[in-house]
Order: sequence, then structure tokens, then C-alpha cells
Amino acid sequence: MPQFHSARLLKALLALALCLGAGPAAGQRAPSPFPLRSVQTGSGVRIAMRDAAAFYGLRQTVRDKTVLWSGSGASAEFTVDRRNAKINGIQVNLSHAVAMHEKQPVISEVDFRLLIDPILRARALPRQRVMTVVIDPGHGGRDPGAAGRQHEEKAVVLQISLRLGQILRQQGFRVHMTRVTDQYLTLEQRIEVARRHRADLFVSIHANAAANQSVHGVETFLLPPRGTAGTYTNRVLDTHRAGNAFDKQNLRLAYEIQRHSLARTRANDRGVKHATFQVLRDLPCPGVLIETGFISNPREEQLLANPAYQTRMAAGIAAGIIAYRELVASP
Ligand SMILES: [Zn+2]
Repeated sequence: MPQFHSARLLKALLALALCLGAGPAAGQRAPSPFPLRSVQTGSGVRIAMRDAAAFYGLRQTVRDKTVLWSGSGASAEFTVDRRNAKINGIQVNLSHAVAMHEKQPVISEVDFRLLIDPILRARALPRQRVMTVVIDPGHGGRDPGAAGRQHEEKAVVLQISLRLGQILRQQGFRVHMTRVTDQYLTLEQRIEVARRHRADLFVSIHANAAANQSVHGVETFLLPPRGTAGTYTNRVLDTHRAGNAFDKQNLRLAYEIQRHSLARTRANDRGVKHATFQVLRDLPCPGVLIETGFISNPREEQLLANPAYQTRMAAGIAAGIIAYRELVASP
């Protein structure tokens, strides 16, 4: 049975602390200057969640299987044996389930570093100047995408994308669209648009479908962080993809887009998720894919085809991009 290690930990933790940067942003409490205890398990390093909470100046309480972090201006909720978490009110899927070790909840070090820290501490994000955004309306031409009763994915996502482009241009961004008409493009052609225009961000806009018509809501995908499995699999594709150079940025961009699109639309939060989508794998810049709703749900289909709702969705995605731009701007 592995034991908590402080020494080995200390080394990893010091490295982590160094990555974590010079200190907390204004308004945040200073991280505690002590090492996070960790333990090596068969599936990687786990960190004592109590220590991780204390690192942010948060208090941890454990009730049955629920692990709560609370404190000034931040909160998080985890469930033992589950991969889903709620961070500051938004669902974020973890790469590994929270586990118990010596009667203490522990979390994967990768999840802590790449999925939680970039949300709870914006200083952990690399600085980036965000000027050029490539918007990618999914599908098109002979590929209709998902179909509802009256509407097709390719048409509603183009409308949302055109509105998004308009809002971002008004906000001073340079915007390029992978398509502005009902045109077929391969996934490689979409990535090529990002390369050609030296995009700072890439946002692919889609709508979802499920066999169960009652399923509805918004989910935003990023490439699984390096060495982790996607949300719907336990298989790790350990090949390092170009998009993995931006793991922290991908996560924070997805989080902000998910948060702001929900705030504008009041849609159901299906969470920030990870999937090895081809269009995200080989991107030359941070990028995400948002599923703006389920066209298979009759009510959401009507909303997705409604111009006022399309504008609200576009405004939410734009607000997420603007929030991200501010978070990563040089101090
Ligand atoms: Zn799609």
C-alpha cells in the first residue's frame, strides 16, 4: 500500500509551486507555503485534496462522498469515485475519479495542475496576446451534421457563428471564418485556416444530438490534456498532439465559453468535457469545440433556430472569449 510521501512530493511540489508563479492575483489569498502531500498510485500521482484546498486558502469539508472546498470568492465540489466536479458553479469533468487514500480524498496531480489550477488561479495561465480568432461553423454542404425535426445542425451553427463573428469584430478582434456559406470543408481544411491566418484562438461551433430526446444543454470540449483519457473513455491516447501544447489555455477558454454562454442563455450545464476531436488535435493555437445545444430536443431545436436565441448564444461565446483575452493579457 503506498504511503503519502512528503519528500518526493516536495520536489514535485516545488516544481509545481515554481510553475504556479510569483503569487496570487489581487483579491486572491496567498497560497500556503507548504508542500502538498502526494502518493504514487498505479494510475499516477495523487494529491491530498485538503492540501490542495489550503493552497488556495479554501476550507475543505467532507460529507459522505461529497468533498467541498469553500472560502473567499471560490468554491468547488467533488464526489469520491466520480470524474465530475463543479468549480465556481460550472461543471468540469476530471480525467481521473477522486479517490480515498488513508481516509483522505485525493485527486490526480494532472487534474489539479491542468484542470483545476488554471481556473482557481489565473496566474497559472501562460500570457498570450489574443487578436485573431478563427470561428469554425461545423459541417456544411453535403455534411448536414445532426438533424432535428425541422432544422439541420449545419444551418443553425452557421447563423450562430456569423453573429459571433460580428460581435467579436465590434470588440476589436480580427475574425476569420472557416466558412460563411453552406460549404463542405474537411477537418484538415479547417485547421489550415487557423494556420494560414496565424490564429490566436480557434472556436468550433456545433449542435448536438442524442437518441434520448429529453437530453438538452450546452457542453464545451477541449482536447484531453496530455496523457489523459477523454470524458467518454478510459483509453489514454498518449501521443502528444500539437494541441496539447495549450492544455491550460484550452481548459480556461472552454471554461469561460461554457460559463458565459450559460449565463446568457440559461441553458442546462452539461459541463466542460474532453474529447480527441480531430479538429482540436492538431491546432496551432488554443481551441475548443462548443456544442450549443441538442437539436434532437424539440424545445432546444426551436431555440437554436430562433434568431434572438442565436444572438444570445453568440453573445455568450463572445463574452467567454473576451474574458479569456483579459485573463491571459500581460499584467
Ligand atoms: Zn457537429
